[in-house]
Amino acid sequence: MRITSVQAMPVSYRVPEGRQVTLGIGRTIKRDAVLVKVETDEGIVGWGEAHHGRCPGAIARLIDTTIRELITGMDPLDVVAVWDRVYRMQLASHGMGAAAAMALSGIDIALWDIRGKACRWPIYRLLGGGRNHVPAYAGGISLGWQDPTALAEEAQGYVEQGYRAIKLRVGDTPKRDIARVRAVRSAVGEDIDILVDANTSYTTDDVRRVMPAYEEFAIGWLEEPFPPHDHRSYASAAALGSVPLAAGENHYTRFEFTRLIEDGAVHFAQPDISKAGGITETLRIAAQTSAWKISLNPHTSATGINMAVTLHVLAAIDNPGYFEADVANHNPFRDEVGGKPYELDSNGCVQPPSGPGLGIEIDEEFIRAHPLIEGPCYV
Ligand SMILES: [Mg+2]
Repeated sequence: MRITSVQAMPVSYRVPEGRQVTLGIGRTIKRDAVLVKVETDEGIVGWGEAHHGRCPGAIARLIDTTIRELITGMDPLDVVAVWDRVYRMQLASHGMGAAAAMALSGIDIALWDIRGKACRWPIYRLLGGGRNHVPAYAGGISLGWQDPTALAEEAQGYVEQGYRAIKLRVGDTPKRDIARVRAVRSAVGEDIDILVDANTSYTTDDVRRVMPAYEEFAIGWLEEPFPPHDHRSYASAAALGSVPLAAGENHYTRFEFTRLIEDGAVHFAQPDISKAGGITETLRIAAQTSAWKISLNPHTSATGINMAVTLHVLAAIDNPGYFEADVANHNPFRDEVGGKPYELDSNGCVQPPSGPGLGIEIDEEFIRAHPLIEGPCYV
């Protein structure tokens, strides 16, 4: 089998006013994604998703010009060879760094979709897993900075849907963050796992101020208090209390995860399969973290493609953590690109799709109806 065509499709939609959520990286005014379609000489078509990198047109251009030229004609089933070629020609030297990792991720996912379709197996089975139940938390673009009473009501709504874990957005002022966490803990009771995400907005002094309250309210993890390269602050914050730190959605490839693991400050690893290097690289990261007894809790990207692939991987590794369910109340990327790829069961768990490859059918009409909108997605 040979790769005959590689095409990136950037897609966007505006988030309606009144449904915009504010978090540590700003207020969401639109959402973006980059879908990747790989065609073969045997007629099998694979789909992947690259993270948008806050400039989806640039990621798409990298795929449609340079990377397409590098991999057309290669065997799509030999995912390691394709990964290695893109790595050497775009990531390792004089390439586009994070953008190349995102582009490579989308292509790698599409190749795994082709592998699954070629043998008519779902990806989780190809990877050695089963159609396992994975615990999910209510996350994504939700539970943002808002009045504590309204936030507690929103959180309670997810618990009523069946979620046993929820993730709040912090990274505001320590005082406001603590008031929100207190209100939500009081509303949902002791049995719900409350996670918090600062989206890189804290200082170490902020962590010192919030830590006693987060300990009191039994917070499950404090996610991304700092940018990923601020290694020193991670080390300092880890010594400030007993709430474990989580990070990884802004880490690329096993090489960056090596340092994250060895620094010893982070206890929940969160690679995004559409950023970290696709399935091929996330399996390597899973093996690394497994040896250190760190669970994998992938960051969820934008569309049903990333959600499906995340579930396949979580169902096939020995250190699965949570699946991040994007519970945004208006999310056509989740519901319409390939149909919502999971349903929450009564135990707050989800399963991967059971069909061949990703197990979802991509709606190309949706793609045509949601062309790229230039400009920032957070303001
Ligand atoms: Mg996060």
